[in-house]
Amino acid sequence: MRFDLITIFPEFFAGPLEHGIVRRAREAGIVQIRMQDLREFTKDRHKTVDDRPFGGGEGMVLKPEPLFEAVEKLLGHGVGEAGERKAVEPGTAIVLMSAAGRLFTQETARRYANLERLVLICGRYEGVDERVAEHLATDEISVGDYVLSGGELPAAIVVDAVTRLLPGAVGNEASTQNESFSGSGSAEAADLAGAARDRARRPRTLLDFPHYTRPAEYRGWKVPEVLIGGNHAEVAKWRFQQALEKTRRNRPDLFVPSL
Ligand code: SAH
Repeated sequence: MRFDLITIFPEFFAGPLEHGIVRRAREAGIVQIRMQDLREFTKDRHKTVDDRPFGGGEGMVLKPEPLFEAVEKLLGHGVGEAGERKAVEPGTAIVLMSAAGRLFTQETARRYANLERLVLICGRYEGVDERVAEHLATDEISVGDYVLSGGELPAAIVVDAVTRLLPGAVGNEASTQNESFSGSGSAEAADLAGAARDRARRPRTLLDFPHYTRPAEYRGWKVPEVLIGGNHAEVAKWRFQQALEKTRRNRPDLFVPSL
């Protein structure tokens, strides 16, 4: 899978994308990650990427021309103009990082993991000329309900979340099938819930269960007995109940049927 990150700070990604699973996936050729400096697509001496907002107000807005041209160079073809917008290849998404976008979730990450190519556009300043969201990007994505100063950290989040879902990226594939936001547990697990058939009391997805490792006792705090006993059925039951309890405590919103 190939990622292209369009940014005014290409060096920003040196840290976040050079460690752990993402680094190994790059080395193994599972992913290719390229930074595209937006300023290469400016034509003036000052390499201007931004301009003042029409209609007045604070801040600066990223201009459309360098962004359109950067994407066109990456795709290897034009995207057209008003009235004759050309479609992008089916395996490609052009994603604008935006606080005003749709929320990025594990489901979005799974959808992207099936593509061949993601082009991620990192905004800055007050944001990006709306024609980019309307006519260039295929998706407008937010990583959470807060405002960051640029789209680089959000883009790194998307790259990380998608990469770890690709076959071969994580040593043990079961570990990405059996974690927070990866479904609502198996059918047997649902039966254990007792109230499982009651939709209102069953969450849309479960958070992960708590994990413990050695030492079995630390500063007087003991690891739950059931995990040490070696009874797999009991362990599975305990984990499910704990996951349910943690979801209720930390994310009561997950119990409300989604819109
Ligand atoms: N004026 C905008 C915020 C601009 S922040 C608003 O109120 O919605 C500058 C850039 O940071 C944005 O263009 C976007 O690319 C990025 N950004 C900020 N918060 C983000 C978030 N939660 N998710 C994704 N991108 C975000």
